[in-house]
Amino acid sequence: MPFRTIIGHRRLIALLSRAVARETLPPSLLLAGPAGIGKRRAAVAIAEAVNCLQPQSTSDLERDACGACAACRRIQRGVHPDVILIEPGDTGSIRIEQVRDVIDRAGYRPFEGRRRAVIIDEADALVPAAQNALLKTLEEPPSASVFVLVSSIPDALLPTVRSRCPRLRFGALSPAEVTEALVRDHGYTDVSARAAAVDGDGSIGRALAAESADLVEARAGAQRLLEQTARGNDPVRRLEAAKELTSKKGPSASERDQLAACLRALASLLRDVGILASGADRRLLGNADLESQLTPLTRAFDSRRSIGAYAAVDRALAALERNASPKVVADWLVLQL
Ligand SMILES: [Zn+2]
Repeated sequence: MPFRTIIGHRRLIALLSRAVARETLPPSLLLAGPAGIGKRRAAVAIAEAVNCLQPQSTSDLERDACGACAACRRIQRGVHPDVILIEPGDTGSIRIEQVRDVIDRAGYRPFEGRRRAVIIDEADALVPAAQNALLKTLEEPPSASVFVLVSSIPDALLPTVRSRCPRLRFGALSPAEVTEALVRDHGYTDVSARAAAVDGDGSIGRALAAESADLVEARAGAQRLLEQTARGNDPVRRLEAAKELTSKKGPSASERDQLAACLRALASLLRDVGILASGADRRLLGNADLESQLTPLTRAFDSRRSIGAYAAVDRALAALERNASPKVVADWLVLQL
């Protein structure tokens, strides 16, 4: 997985590529940011770019792996002797023995590659003793090794470890980027990818995890509700619309999951209506495919009303998480919009 195949994060990826090309990559790095956005992929891409036998360069990337040579293929299969991946085992933590083994190996010159890459995924799962064992190596790193720690909760690492690893902050992906990843890597159709991307809130991992709810229906239901409330104030009609919100759900989703997915879609639609009402940059739209349907809603939902509605959706989601009845939450919400 060369740098060029990573979706999003262009600035950071260009930075890493340049550092590899100019041999200024620090001996230890911490890739931090939300779960499910491609940090581990980026770590493997570093290992590939460093060890590729036929590296290439493009206008955006000073050095990138070819993705096809013997070294690249071995790294992709996880069998390159100089690229070591550590991750939590069955216990959910990374034990000291796993780290000791790597530290021992890091003392030797790489077998085949130019530079040994040690990737520690979910580094926050390192038990404190393992972090302390790692510390000495991070303080005086072997010249031919690079340690790449990956974490979505970097502040759970010991301050001593954190202070030795320059941190690169990866942000959430845009809905368009999540959509692209779901279609390219996970076989989603464009429509279901868009709905899942809205639900995933910038994370490919979260979009994949939310599979049980019927997300296409959740977004369609949210859109219908918004159109209904824009048309008029009739409370009876609104309460009927509330009933519909949980009527169609995915195969294993509960009424609560389905309503939560619908509320997240509603929040995303309201945010877009706000963007359209204020004339902000349309590239920020999460539901760009619905632009022509959302634009007329800006007449009913001016920015004040859409902010109020957004806040109500937020409260409804919080109430659902606290185990309030889905019916009560849906009924309450439709009267607040
Ligand atoms: Zn290669």
